[in-house]
Amino acid sequence: MMLELTEILDRPGASVPFSTDVDLTDLVYGTQKPLSRVTAQGAVRNTAGVLVLKGTARVEITGVCDRCAADFSRQVDFPLDAVLSADASDEDDENVFPLEGGRADLEDIVRTTVVLNMDQQLLCRPDCKGLCFRCGKNLNLGPCDCTPEPDPRMAALARLLKK
Ligand SMILES: [Zn+2]
Ligand SMILES: [Zn+2]
Repeated sequence: MMLELTEILDRPGASVPFSTDVDLTDLVYGTQKPLSRVTAQGAVRNTAGVLVLKGTARVEITGVCDRCAADFSRQVDFPLDAVLSADASDEDDENVFPLEGGRADLEDIVRTTVVLNMDQQLLCRPDCKGLCFRCGKNLNLGPCDCTPEPDPRMAALARLLKK
């Protein structure tokens, strides 16, 4: 979707709101395609002559956890924060996006932001505890019965305390 911004180009303080869906079902992570439609909302504001886009991309991630192998689906909000510039030399900065003919490519901005913010690993939750490497139990559901490896220093301390 191209966002029309000519009306605020010369009006500091003015803003244009946006709300759009972007289809990211084609993005591949490992062997999975965990993303579906992304809803992006926000506004572009003329801030002292510079067009600044701020908003949120709401992403639904659905897949199989790389760490614990559980099916999961969770929602994540990624902040959209971009500067729109008609000067192509600014585009080395990953937050700067082109402004062509007073228009910005909203889909490109949303897609780039999501790609930069997604972990390469798909996790059911950021602090997934994974599986016990001995018994294979999913440790998100609680500790397993395996005795933890004895720490040699703790064992020495235990011997001292027994005396
Ligand atoms: Zn997991
Ligand atoms: Zn275990």
